[in-house]
Amino acid sequence: MRIQVLTIFPELFERFLTTSLVGRAVESGRLEIGVRDLRDWSGDRHRTVDDTPYGGGGGMVMTAPPWIRAVRELAAGAEPWRVLLSPQGRRLDDAKVRELAARGDLLLLCGRYEGIDERVRLTVVDEEISIGDYVLSGGELPAMVLIEAVSREVPGVVQLPESVARDSFRSGLLDHPHYTRPPEVEGLKVPEVLTSGDHAAIDRWRLRAALAATLAKRPDLLDEARLGPAERRELERLRAGKGSPGVAGSAGSRDN
Ligand code: SAM
Repeated sequence: MRIQVLTIFPELFERFLTTSLVGRAVESGRLEIGVRDLRDWSGDRHRTVDDTPYGGGGGMVMTAPPWIRAVRELAAGAEPWRVLLSPQGRRLDDAKVRELAARGDLLLLCGRYEGIDERVRLTVVDEEISIGDYVLSGGELPAMVLIEAVSREVPGVVQLPESVARDSFRSGLLDHPHYTRPPEVEGLKVPEVLTSGDHAAIDRWRLRAALAATLAKRPDLLDEARLGPAERRELERLRAGKGSPGVAGSAGSRDN
């Protein structure tokens, strides 16, 4: 998987690209990431990439020519999928992450200031992606979010592929709750079945727990989830208030 990033703050990516899962993916060569400074394409000795907006008003707008020159040069020969990070884009979700990972070659454009001259979107962008309905000061954090999510799809990056398959959203449900030592915390014991060694029973509990978590926290997901007959039956039991594995409901209240 190759990802190129265009930004005026390349230094923001330094620790991110050498740390944890993304760092290991880069080191192993599974993920090839190139972060480029847009100012290298500014075309003037002051390395200017912004100007005042036509029509007046406050703030600065990123000018089109550096972006167009940079994207054309970086995309030459390989045709990466060109993604503009923007609050106006399609919201990133699990399906979009998989789709982007399958493309194998991405070029990410990180805006700043009031945004980028509209003609960049119209000429050298394939798709606008947002990470949520709120406005950040730049596209760098959204690009990192996208890179980390996409990298989890690259074979070999996550050690246990089955853990990606069980993660929230992949099956249409939220993940089941997880527990580790110690066996009791603040009077709350680990569900007994998880220490029973009965793997069939543990799998059944995990499915029920995932259904219960989804029903409690994100019932909207259940409209789209592709559930088998056994899962549907279990869901009906949960909806009727029977057989809850005791994982639903709100998070614990804060200590006073
Ligand atoms: N004036 C723009 C608007 O309201 O649509 C917002 C510009 S924002 C301050 C500057 C840059 O941050 C954008 O060009 C974009 O690259 C990035 N950005 C901000 N919020 C984002 C979000 N939710 N998702 C993706 N990128 C975002």
